[in-house]
Amino acid sequence: MKNLENERKSGWENTTEKEKESIFKFSDEYIYFLNKSKTEREAVRFIVEILEKNGFKNIENVQKLNTGDKVYYNNREKSVYAAIIGKENIENGLNIVGSHLDSPRLDLKPNPLYEDTGFAYLKTHYYGGIKKYQWTAIPLAIHGVIVKANGEKQVISIGEDENDPIFTITDLLPHLAIEQMDKKLKEAINGEALTLLVGNIPSEEDKDKIKSNILNILNEKYGIDEKDFISSELEVVPAFNARSLGFDKSMVAAYGQDDKVCAYTSLRALLDVENPEKTSVCLFSDKEEIGSMGNTGMESHVFDMFIGELLEKSGVNTFNALARTFCKSQMLSADVDAALDPLYASVSDRPNAGLLGHGMALVKYTGARGKSGASDANAEFMAKIRNVFENEKIDYQATELGKVDIGGGGTIAYILANKGTDVVDCGIPVLSMHAPYEVTSKFDIYTAYKAYKAFFQSAM
Ligand code: MN
Ligand code: MN
Repeated sequence: MKNLENERKSGWENTTEKEKESIFKFSDEYIYFLNKSKTEREAVRFIVEILEKNGFKNIENVQKLNTGDKVYYNNREKSVYAAIIGKENIENGLNIVGSHLDSPRLDLKPNPLYEDTGFAYLKTHYYGGIKKYQWTAIPLAIHGVIVKANGEKQVISIGEDENDPIFTITDLLPHLAIEQMDKKLKEAINGEALTLLVGNIPSEEDKDKIKSNILNILNEKYGIDEKDFISSELEVVPAFNARSLGFDKSMVAAYGQDDKVCAYTSLRALLDVENPEKTSVCLFSDKEEIGSMGNTGMESHVFDMFIGELLEKSGVNTFNALARTFCKSQMLSADVDAALDPLYASVSDRPNAGLLGHGMALVKYTGARGKSGASDANAEFMAKIRNVFENEKIDYQATELGKVDIGGGGTIAYILANKGTDVVDCGIPVLSMHAPYEVTSKFDIYTAYKAYKAFFQSAM
């Protein structure tokens, strides 16, 4: 009898020993990337270095583009766009894979340092959608930059080296937490309580002894004073490393996998693309977690400028070339999907939920409560992507974020769709999304690499 059902089964079931080896090797390299790239700036540094090693040139230093040329644009050290010029005219459309490098975290406030009753603290303002209670009582590191008024820049990373100190946000002991435990989870820890403990030794000054001791240490180490916090971007992130998870080592547990898992896999895919028909574009965005605004977010026109440069330097200066190019382009919005968690299965609609280890999640639409705010991919485009994946035997599943009335979310998909590009969300499922430690499947990670590569390579 003909099997007409869309059967769902774990990708591991059909994985050969040899494939397993490739999957585990790739995941080790991904883990290395994660440990070097906890923030968007660190990820940009890592990505640009790899791009340059692989023959990509800064587009600002390139006058003329020909088929096969590889270029990138570094947008203020916080987002990157990279391209390989295809055989076809750029105006015939691009194959774009777009991910984001920013992840939920705690940013330091502009005036962060104070002391209270013998302790020095740094105030934070959380970035993105977090469950605040998850950020207390865990080891935290500080990453980022401090720029002095004269432009001199200090790159900071403290809490990663074994000999570095770490920081933490204290929480109430259970013995005295009767009132706190009665509160709603979202109110149990308030935003202002997400304050980092950073010192306890008094200096010899007359007042603010603890604070001034910290200022002395910072001055000695980085040559900065308190005012320099004003022109800094310091991000508080979990101090623990990415690790293999499970007795079978089938998963990766790490901070920031939303969305560095799609960033890394699409980067690797781009590096392995050979003589593409369509121009391949890999974009790594910033600010997705807070709405994609700002000049490093996808709502800005900097990406348009990059594509405009590709056109111009390829000799295409016709009126409306940019708009036409976007209208003929196709994009995989490479962002993570919510995986069904058996411990919280009630929020997911089982047949439409992303399952860990089942490959790429194709998410036709996101949005919340009635698809509000969603870019809903066209059936014709869904068919094209299916065709690419099915021809290349790439495991994929068609999913939704969760049950209809439960909640929702968004990605950068709608931004490119608004320019006329065909876009569908296509990433991998994650457990504990936005938590300090997120979980993915190594099978899915490797599948994402294969899927993005197949898409770049496709001539559709
Ligand atoms: Mn994301
Ligand atoms: Mn997210």
